[in-house]
Amino acid sequence: MKRALISDIHSNLEALTGVLDDIDRLGITEIYCLGDVVGYGPNPRECIDLCLDLSVSILGNHDQAAIFDPDGFNPVALRAIYWTREALEARQGAAAENNRRWDFLGELPRFRSEDEFLFVHGSPRDPTNEYVFPEDVYNQRKMDILFDRFDRYCFQGHTHIPGIFSAGHHFTSPEECGHEFKLAEDKIMVNVGSVGQPRDGDPRACYVVLTEHVLTFRRVDYDFDVTIKKIYDNPDLDNMLGDRLREGR
Ligand code: ZN
Repeated sequence: MKRALISDIHSNLEALTGVLDDIDRLGITEIYCLGDVVGYGPNPRECIDLCLDLSVSILGNHDQAAIFDPDGFNPVALRAIYWTREALEARQGAAAENNRRWDFLGELPRFRSEDEFLFVHGSPRDPTNEYVFPEDVYNQRKMDILFDRFDRYCFQGHTHIPGIFSAGHHFTSPEECGHEFKLAEDKIMVNVGSVGQPRDGDPRACYVVLTEHVLTFRRVDYDFDVTIKKIYDNPDLDNMLGDRLREGR
């Protein structure tokens, strides 16, 4: 079975359509989204609509913040999430469509477990909110606790930094493994990166293809100038949210 694992779309329609086209070209129909469909970007409605029929979708912290009270959000993220809420509110006689989108967000599960695979947004300890950064490999206690919380393979997003955490407390970036990695007996956590707001210095949209026990990190060019202009034109979305798309930071 071939699966595409996407995460952290953040209302970036151009990046999402680019990635979905790439997945389609590969003939993959099983698509798992690990959360944060909305937040930061200019197209929450359109991005949710494209995610309604995915095989699996997990709750991200921004998805949660759109529904409930945002927790620990900086002012820029907070303003963006309040605008996202407004954009999703029933207006212009589109109540049925709006309700469908709210239902989608409201029904997202916090994790998904399938055989030896665990899918979360943040971490196996706190599926929605905990960050696992590459430098956390130096926090042995944290890594030990996290690795105790899943059976074999854990897939996550949230930091927007793709790579592989191995049980020996080592982080391997996609470049370091030639963008391909074979799952073996050893436990690993895999961050699939971000579709709509990469932060590893590469502005291209990032996602992972999982074919049986081989995972491939893929990067997709998209026209971020279109997205950046929409962000600049939106007074509730800080210009910095556009600028960072150009840098992949
Ligand atoms: Zn995110």
